[in-house]
Amino acid sequence: MLQIRGLKKKFHVAGKDIPILDIPEWNVKAGEKIAITGPSGSGKSTLLHLISGIMRLDEGEISIGDSRLSAMNESGRDRFRADQIGYILQDFHLIPSLTAKQNVEIAMNRKYSSAERRDRVDDWFERVGLQERKDHKPGELSRGQQQRVAIIRALISEPKLILADEPTGSLDWETADEIAELLLELCRSDLHTLLVVTHDLRMAERFPECLHIRQINDVHRRTREPGGLAI
Ligand code: ADP
Ligand code: MG
Repeated sequence: MLQIRGLKKKFHVAGKDIPILDIPEWNVKAGEKIAITGPSGSGKSTLLHLISGIMRLDEGEISIGDSRLSAMNESGRDRFRADQIGYILQDFHLIPSLTAKQNVEIAMNRKYSSAERRDRVDDWFERVGLQERKDHKPGELSRGQQQRVAIIRALISEPKLILADEPTGSLDWETADEIAELLLELCRSDLHTLLVVTHDLRMAERFPECLHIRQINDVHRRTREPGGLAI
C-alpha cells in the first residue's frame, strides 16, 4: 500500500544542511495499523508530511497504491491527498467560526450527492457519540470532542490511508485513551491502513505493530551515540 525507496530529506538551517530522514526502504501493507514512536525532533512529523505530499522529498520515491506520489507536482499531490488520505493532527485545526458539522462538510469529497452527504454526516456523528453536538462551534466543545470532529473530518470520505500526528498529544490521559480506542475501532477494517505518530506509549501499546523511528530511519541509526542510550 505504501512503498518508500531511497528517501532522503534534509533541512537547510543557518547555512548548513541537516539530514532528517534517510529511509533506504520501507513497505507498509494494506490494512496495517502501525504506531511510530521516537523523541521530539527525530523526524516523525516530517515523515508524515512527506507521505501526505504536503512536503516534497529531496531524493527517492514514495508510492501509495499504484500512484507514485514523488512523480506528482504540488497540485497533483493536493488532489491525491484530498481523495486518498485522511490526516489527523494533534491540534485539530478546526475552523472556529464554523459548526462541527460544517467543519466536516467542507472537507468532504465531492463524489457524494447532497442526500448521501447528509446521511453520512449524521451517521458519523452518531458513531463517535457527538449526535447532540453537530451544531456546536469548536469553542463550545471539549478538546476530546474537537478531536472526534477532526477524526470524522479525516475519515468521512473513506481514505485508504489514515495518518495521525500525535492525535492524543494535547489531551488528558483519560480522553487520550478514549480517542486511541475510537481511532482503532473506526479503522479496524482491513480497508484502512493507519499510521500514528505518538510519544504516548499507552497509545502505542494498543497497536498491533509499534516501530521506533530509528527502525525506519537510517539517519538516527547512524547518528546514535556508541554505547549511548537508545532513545
Ligand atoms: P518530530 O515530529 O519527530 O518531533 P519533526 O519532523 O517535526 O520532528 O522535525 C525533525 C527535525 O527537523 C527537527 O530538528 C526540526 O527542528 C527540523 N525541522 C522541521 N521542519 C523544519 C523546517 N521547515 N525547516 C528547518 N528545520 C525543520
Ligand atoms: Mg512532530
